[in-house]
Amino acid sequence: MYRSHNCGELRSAHIGQSVTLSGWVQKTRDKGFVIWVDLRDRYGITQLVFDEERSPAGIMEQSRSLGREFVIQAKGTVIERASKNSNIPTGDIEILVSEIQILNTSMTPPFTIEDNTDGGEDIRMKYRYLDIRRNPVKDNLIFRHKVTMEVRKYLSNQGFIEVETPYLIKSTPEGARDFVVPSRMNEGQFYALPQSPQTFKQLLMVGGMDKYFQIVKCFRDEDLRADRQPEFTQIDCEMAFIEQEDILNVFEGLTAHLLKEIVGVDSSNFPRITYDEALKKYGNDKPDIRFGMEFGELNAVAQHKDFNVFNTAELVVGIAVPGGASHTRKEIDALVDWVRRPQIGAKGMVYVKCNDDGSFKSSVDKFYNQEDLALWAEKTGAKAGDLICVLSGDTHTTRGQLSALRMEMAERLGLRKPDEFAPLWVVDFPLLELDIETGNYHAMHHPFTSPKPGHLSLLETDPDAVRANAYDLVLNGNEIGGGSIRIHDKETQATMFKHLGFTAEEARAQFGFLMDAFQYGAPPHGGIAFGLDRLVAILGGQETIRDFIAFPKNNSGRDIMIDAPAPIDGEQLKELHLKLDEQA
Ligand code: ASP
Repeated sequence: MYRSHNCGELRSAHIGQSVTLSGWVQKTRDKGFVIWVDLRDRYGITQLVFDEERSPAGIMEQSRSLGREFVIQAKGTVIERASKNSNIPTGDIEILVSEIQILNTSMTPPFTIEDNTDGGEDIRMKYRYLDIRRNPVKDNLIFRHKVTMEVRKYLSNQGFIEVETPYLIKSTPEGARDFVVPSRMNEGQFYALPQSPQTFKQLLMVGGMDKYFQIVKCFRDEDLRADRQPEFTQIDCEMAFIEQEDILNVFEGLTAHLLKEIVGVDSSNFPRITYDEALKKYGNDKPDIRFGMEFGELNAVAQHKDFNVFNTAELVVGIAVPGGASHTRKEIDALVDWVRRPQIGAKGMVYVKCNDDGSFKSSVDKFYNQEDLALWAEKTGAKAGDLICVLSGDTHTTRGQLSALRMEMAERLGLRKPDEFAPLWVVDFPLLELDIETGNYHAMHHPFTSPKPGHLSLLETDPDAVRANAYDLVLNGNEIGGGSIRIHDKETQATMFKHLGFTAEEARAQFGFLMDAFQYGAPPHGGIAFGLDRLVAILGGQETIRDFIAFPKNNSGRDIMIDAPAPIDGEQLKELHLKLDEQA
């Protein structure tokens, strides 16, 4: 028997008992006549004590040979500590050790395995198995487990069945590139790894499964972006015989359950906003609504004077930064520089200070009088003491820039509180999105999304106006889930493919199986998928999804611990019928 108890378990009530513990040596303190060792496992830390008076002969010497991260077994008696440590649950006791056995030695670890470590990100990634011994990482993994357990519990109780779908498939378009796997047995042919189980879950509905879910890995070969993982996990769901309203209700239920069980927050409020409204009010389709600073459009009150910058702009729009009037000239200049950085790309920023006495001081006083500025304040909801920041230009770009500024100011003002949760449904997404470079339309969600009833005919005449029964669930400014009601008849699906630029042959070759299935009694259906990694990070009050993944890839998509991706040898290439350029 390696242990009678774990290292987080023993309390005063155990005093006098003989116990056996196993774990890692975190730290040794040698005072000469007495030696303490902190023994660690997943459950906590227990202090071992060796002393000249009470310990058996020879054991003091033996304990001096213990290095950091040695794996040991210790037998002894639970005794009361002379000086108690109220910071740890086992702090009232220690183990007077009578016998130790070294189960394994350890090299000196490349960084300290404590809550606060001296190890940088790269070294900790390379030795991830050591990093996992640290509480912050270990606790995140346990937290993730709790979330997935609650998801499974909730959905199972609602009658959902977890079904596994294959990983070696044919492309399912979700807007990214596929990772492909060469087939050894079929020369020149490739599987694609799923970007999502989208088509399979729809086929499960045709198969009558009615309510499906799966906690599933998805793979997307996207360009590098901070905090994106090429493989990530979705809570993927689909239901038959439902309308959008049913889906929103069920998954509000799931989200509320998680908020309650995991973070102890009651949330009955899931406001809804249309995509168009979200863009107008917040400049993006995943607004953080924990704080105000809603956009005020100023065209009507700013385009009547000689200020050409505004007169030639498609959109003039501002936000009121609470308390911002106290910014010094220098601070405002820095803010202007911030919006002009290439990442944001604004040409400049007009500002208005709303003074406490009700007067205004602006950067465009030459053009606008106090009455004009009072109207700006009204439109942006600015109060005395606020700073109105105004950007202008074409609608799409300007909204994006002001949205970035809004988030930045909220961050600086501490308004993005990690323990406050504000879910929001964004509904009525456009069905199509124009690719400015190619001039082609592509599906905003994916090609299986149904246009709103009555909108199908608009595809010919006004494609931009077509709205879909598509929805996103947003939490604190992050899209945590998205889905849609699907097309379930062959004709509509064929029309959709046509509008997306597929020839009938291409559509047949790629999605014939789905269109065939639609001919055998496909029920009306729809679904949603949540990004589990992001959801867990947000519930955990953190931003980085990597911290909640046991073995993540770095920002270049590499696993630096196992050193992947890596070349494969010539034999393997040959077997797979692959030739690299230089060998061709
Ligand atoms: N397959 C979609 C996605 O991965 C989700 C859905 O439509 O259910 O975003």
